[in-house]
Amino acid sequence: MTTIAVLGGGYAGLRAARKLAHAKVPARIVLVNKHPYHYQSTQLHQLAAGTKEEADICFPMATAVPKKVNVVIDEVERVDREGHQVFLKSHPPIAYDYLLNALGFESESFGIEGVEENSLPLVDVDTALAARRHLEETLARYRTSGDDLDLSILVCGAGFTSIEYLGELVYRLPELAKRYDFPMEKVKIGCIEAADKILPMFDRKLADWATDYLRRHGVVFHTSTPITAIRPGQVVSNDATFSANTIIWATGVKGSSVIPASGYSSKRNRVVVQDDLSVEGNPREFLIGDVSAVLDPSSGRPYPTTAQVSIAQADCAAANVVAELTGRPTGKFSFKSVGTVCSLGPKVGVAQIDFMGHWKLKGWIVGIVKKMVNDRSVLEVADVKTVLGNN
Ligand code: NAD
Repeated sequence: MTTIAVLGGGYAGLRAARKLAHAKVPARIVLVNKHPYHYQSTQLHQLAAGTKEEADICFPMATAVPKKVNVVIDEVERVDREGHQVFLKSHPPIAYDYLLNALGFESESFGIEGVEENSLPLVDVDTALAARRHLEETLARYRTSGDDLDLSILVCGAGFTSIEYLGELVYRLPELAKRYDFPMEKVKIGCIEAADKILPMFDRKLADWATDYLRRHGVVFHTSTPITAIRPGQVVSNDATFSANTIIWATGVKGSSVIPASGYSSKRNRVVVQDDLSVEGNPREFLIGDVSAVLDPSSGRPYPTTAQVSIAQADCAAANVVAELTGRPTGKFSFKSVGTVCSLGPKVGVAQIDFMGHWKLKGWIVGIVKKMVNDRSVLEVADVKTVLGNN
């Protein structure tokens, strides 16, 4: 029987496996995922700040996909693309006829010295929980250490992840100050960004509103400050050194390291795919989500690595596998963004919405929009009861 291997159970892989199962293809669908759960990667910053719990953003893989999908919990080590086999850490290899690689992203250090050893990335459930544990233990220690650096937090990068994390952090800190009995007025939060702008990809007025909001809540921004090294308790730029006992690393992501291990030529582990999302020279191999780069014809640049793009790619790639299986021509990927939301804690944020017009929103209304987006996303993998329980 034909086997379709789907690698990764994030937004793209999960959606593709579900679509294939619902299409009732005459094939065995195997979904390989490292963890026995799917997690909402767009909410990791909340887990890291402690405004959400693990159970709010993690959903068992067994119930997130239809029964027709065979779930294998294991780590993919590499794909033998010539021999059509997926090599796993603990299980025997899986032979496939069609491959949908959706292995997602990893933290990107850009080769900067000391990043792995001395800072905390926010790229999966384990790293987000480690960042939260470190933050709370360090803040709690101040009572006995009296060391001001225990109350200092540095966030590296001022893209979406950093800004959304900072929003949650300033919201949660007063509660942590009460719990661990430290003086709020002594807390120092710095954000260090190489570019001359905060949220460089966002509408300027909205980005300025977000920046002002965070400044009013005590965040100090250092722009035009490229980080060159991270040492224990120190962030080093060309002409300055910043000190803190909590250092969060959120300067961007790269695709899974399975990409170079499988012999693809790529840039930051993202492979440029054909317009039907297949790999050049191999119509039965599709790359979707953060391991792929698809050129947006309107800008000539790759589409951004967002959940929205990943989900649209999954729909297209699943339909193209069905087309291949039934001898029909494959379709081109097309994407129309419905907008971008950047939350600043659970209650406010900024958003550009492209739905029935172009809307630029800020404040509490965005808190409501973001909640609707999150609830819709959770409904894909869980039931209504779970969504209500999360509220
Ligand atoms: P990002 O690329 O959006 O932002 C990283 C920031 O770090 C950039 O502003 C960059 O200039 C800065 N930077 C890079 N190297 C640096 C250095 N050496 N020193 C100082 N600053 C440096 O990355 P992210 O925030 O990790 O997000 C990853 C992806 O996920 C992005 O594509 C993003 O759009 C997406 N995302 C979207 C949302 C949302 O839509 N709400 C939320 C989170 C992430």
